Amino acid sequence: MGDSMKDSHAVVVGGSIAGLLAAAAAAKHLQRVTVLDRDPLPDEPVVRKGAPQGSQAHVLLPPGERKIEELLPGISDELIAAGCVRYNHTADIPTLGSWGWHPRMQLRETEALGFRRPLLEHVIRRRLRGQENVEIRQGTVAGLLADEAKENLVGVGLKGGEAVLGDLVIDAGGRGSKSSKWLRSLGFEAPELVEVRVHLGYATEFVEFAPGVLGDGTKGILMPARVTLPRGFAILPADNGVYTLVANGFSRHYPPRDREGVAEFLEGAPLPMFAELVRQARPVSDLTTYRMPGSMRRVWEGIESPPGRFCAIGDAVASLNPVYGQGVTMAAFGARHLDDALGADGATLDSAPGSFQRALAGDVDYAFAVSAGGDVRYPGAELENFAHPSPEEVEFLNGLEQLAPRDAAITQAIAEATFGMRPEALQDEAIAARVAARPRDEQPPVDPGDYSTEVLPEPSLTGPNERNSDD
Ligand SMILES: Cc1cc2nc3c(=O)[nH]c(=O)nc-3n(C[C@H](O)[C@H](O)[C@H](O)COP(=O)(O)OP(=O)(O)OC[C@H]3O[C@@H](n4cnc5c(N)ncnc54)[C@H](O)[C@@H]3O)c2cc1C
Repeated sequence: MGDSMKDSHAVVVGGSIAGLLAAAAAAKHLQRVTVLDRDPLPDEPVVRKGAPQGSQAHVLLPPGERKIEELLPGISDELIAAGCVRYNHTADIPTLGSWGWHPRMQLRETEALGFRRPLLEHVIRRRLRGQENVEIRQGTVAGLLADEAKENLVGVGLKGGEAVLGDLVIDAGGRGSKSSKWLRSLGFEAPELVEVRVHLGYATEFVEFAPGVLGDGTKGILMPARVTLPRGFAILPADNGVYTLVANGFSRHYPPRDREGVAEFLEGAPLPMFAELVRQARPVSDLTTYRMPGSMRRVWEGIESPPGRFCAIGDAVASLNPVYGQGVTMAAFGARHLDDALGADGATLDSAPGSFQRALAGDVDYAFAVSAGGDVRYPGAELENFAHPSPEEVEFLNGLEQLAPRDAAITQAIAEATFGMRPEALQDEAIAARVAARPRDEQPPVDPGDYSTEVLPEPSLTGPNERNSDD
């Protein structure tokens, strides 16, 4: 075991996206890193038992892609070489909100990469496998090991009895991480659990379309679930000519397990085109379903006397309602914070885990507020250790939804705040004034009609809603 960081060994529990990115960060500062996963990790892009969400729709928010690129330079080019597709979310994906179609806009902040999740994981894993000081191996972690003084963790114990010793233990074991239980059994405090449950279901199929089925100049379509109809639908570009077709539902509106059932599930939607698109899609995979209660976070940074030489990352910290597409991005933010904490002047293995966990907490707070803040409006939402947003905050969100179809600046701000993870985009007096002044006696349109084919450029929005980018 090493005394200084550069002689040290990190052990990562879980070799999925967060574990791999954490390994990339730790390998820059420590002598070596061992990544353990209960799955034998494959050499191909396939769905694994340990990450069953691999068969479901995945979006990578642009800031997440940038963080992964910072850690693994050139990875975006590798993803594109592997068949991932570059698209612009606000320009290429017409979006039907609860008050109508949003204006389409070519925003820098919404340049995204389409993929099937196993391909993203595969390209990251392939890159890490080429790194000399990283070992990725099969091993089911059955517990954590602490020193005699019960101050620091010193490794993990595997099923079968083997001990893997290390100077830093990183939990990337996902939403189902057992670290809380293991820490308690060692006499440490476990983190508080925060939850907002909206009981959501996903049904995803990977598909192709005959030319002309998707509208000219579009690469998909999106109808997020809304409070009045908690059923959402999307077609998004994936990779290698394949699209992701996904239906989802909140408040126990679980989409069914067969495509005709999914088409029928969407028949209550405002336009028949969604069910028709399901019927016209040609499957290249099985249709699979997934259910989860909602967003959950473990408040690791709140533990009064945290175990030394330990930290947690990815879904082991926060597993968020996936419709907001934040999970991989939070894993990437975490890995960059870990890189910064380990590389800071004077950092030691005693100080870095705490600085890392506190730095990540700020991003997780925001991501959680975005997903949970929207979700609390759904009937039957259950909140655990999470304060209900104020009526003013809920009204603000409702107002944004009402105005988005007619106000390009508001659509832009929403996209930047959510897709671009920039809270300040909505903390704007001009936006607040427009929301406050909105008409209160309107109803959402019964028939939203067709989406616009016009794509507005960034950022020179004109007309009564003009807002300069530096307002
Ligand atoms: C339906 C659905 C849709 C989603 N859509 C999106 C999306 O659009 N965009 C997005 O960014 N995110 C999305 N996510 C979230 C995203 O999948 C995760 O945030 C992301 O995979 C990072 O997870 P992770 O690496 O922390 O955990 P996971 O991917 O869950 O991996 C945990 C790993 O730990 C291993 N493991 C667990 N226990 C042990 C043990 N005891 N010993 C050894 N290994 C162990 C598992 O085998 C697994 O490989 C979605 C999730 C779901 C469920």
